[in-house]
Amino acid sequence: MKVSSQKPVVILGAGLAGLTAAHFLQQNNVPVLLFEAGNKIAGLCQSFHDEDGFTYDFGAHFITNRLAKAVGILDKCRTVRHYAETVWLGGTSYSYPFGLLRIPRIAAGGIVSQLNYSQGTPATAAEWFRASYGRALADEVAIPLTEAWSGAAADQLSPAVGDGIANSVARTLWLKLASRLTRRAVSCGYSRELPENASVYHVYPEGGIGTLCQVLAADLHGVIQLESPVEKILVDDNKVTGIRANGREIEASAVISTAPINVLGKIVAGTDRLEHLSQFRYRPMVFVNLRLNGRGLLPDVVTWTPEKQFPFFRLTETPLSMPWLAPTNKTIITVDIGCEKESEFWQMDDERLGEFCIAHLQPLIADVRQRYEGCRVMRTPVAYPVFLREYEMEREKFATGTGIENLYSVGRNGEFMHIFMEDVYERTKRKIEQLTMSLAAQKCTSFFPVLSPKTQMG
Ligand SMILES: Cc1cc2nc3c(=O)[nH]c(=O)nc-3n(C[C@H](O)[C@H](O)[C@H](O)COP(=O)(O)OP(=O)(O)OC[C@H]3O[C@@H](n4cnc5c(N)ncnc54)[C@H](O)[C@@H]3O)c2cc1C
Repeated sequence: MKVSSQKPVVILGAGLAGLTAAHFLQQNNVPVLLFEAGNKIAGLCQSFHDEDGFTYDFGAHFITNRLAKAVGILDKCRTVRHYAETVWLGGTSYSYPFGLLRIPRIAAGGIVSQLNYSQGTPATAAEWFRASYGRALADEVAIPLTEAWSGAAADQLSPAVGDGIANSVARTLWLKLASRLTRRAVSCGYSRELPENASVYHVYPEGGIGTLCQVLAADLHGVIQLESPVEKILVDDNKVTGIRANGREIEASAVISTAPINVLGKIVAGTDRLEHLSQFRYRPMVFVNLRLNGRGLLPDVVTWTPEKQFPFFRLTETPLSMPWLAPTNKTIITVDIGCEKESEFWQMDDERLGEFCIAHLQPLIADVRQRYEGCRVMRTPVAYPVFLREYEMEREKFATGTGIENLYSVGRNGEFMHIFMEDVYERTKRKIEQLTMSLAAQKCTSFFPVLSPKTQMG
């Protein structure tokens, strides 16, 4: 059934979350307008191809066959056969997580932590890691890595940081074994909304990760406005009334923001209810994609480098999982550097950054300089939501909703959650089902929502 004369739902941001929201609203015949601040769609879900045959994402990205199927691109994806992580400690690589148990102090610390039931509830991320992993693994690996990606001391971080990592030993073992048996990279730790099992594995779209967004955007004719940041979200009597973009005010029946919540806190007008969100912090990240001659230069696909001598915390040689991302006999290593926007790394020009990474990679790849063929650098100011204890109560409260009628905040930065794309898609889809029902109940629309079986059952 067609909508008559309703005000549109306005969406901020054409990343995966915004496009998913627009797609499902349009499926339910709800009029929708999507404003994107940048000059292209896809946000963090973009791929870049260069003239030499290399493909880069915004940091290495792995998606699941289940997400590809839901979006309708599974037939355009290649299966990823291998995925594994290692940790570089004292000049040796240890497979993660189980190889680390070869180090006696780590194995002993792990056993003690599992036996020690008397500990109270951890109050910080540091306490959570020590209680869950034992002191050696926490102090030598987990805490330095957490501090490098977050830019905050682990005792200033909420124990909720651990929620995103926790997966039982038995479950991890089973998923790793399933990978071996099926010869597919079975997903482990990439989905929380839906269960992971042997039939959920990594795939990569032939056109790059951005294909997900291109397909979602394909039916949104006349809906997306690029280079149009939403400047204000207008609220009256604690209810959304519209937005301002391109200097124009537009009435809206609801607003869905996928912008970082510190931006949301600044652009909501007509109430000070969300002002406190502007203190929430994100960690910026620089990704240096090194083009190198040869392949198989790192111990495995992902190598974590917790030791202080390294200015980066993670290295990913994506062609070990996805050979098609680099020409034959060449490879690409993505170096992740967490830093603030005022820091020297953020400001450094690309050539110097490449040289800097090469100099620090020599302990891992002795002849890396001879192999180096240049780099391409990517930067994002909003890579990771930082769970500081100082705003933990507000974070928990915000997770239950914005508190403003018909204002929704979705997506990784919009929910301030460390979620991967399958969860972004699933959570957004679910919120759109709720919004559609709510608009129908408020009689903002005259359509009959197309309900999924899950919603129909309540
Ligand atoms: C280093 C790294 C590695 C990752 N690896 C994986 C992985 O392997 N697998 C996986 O599934 N996921 C991965 N992710 C997560 C994944 O990239 C994100 O979950 C997903 O892309 C988030 O989509 P989004 O739409 O929520 O946000 P975004 O992609 O950030 O989109 C938000 C959009 O809103 C726009 N915007 C902001 N403010 C405004 C405004 N005022 N008006 C209009 N538009 C606005 C922005 O320009 C942007 O385009 C990774 C993320 C990072 C940082």
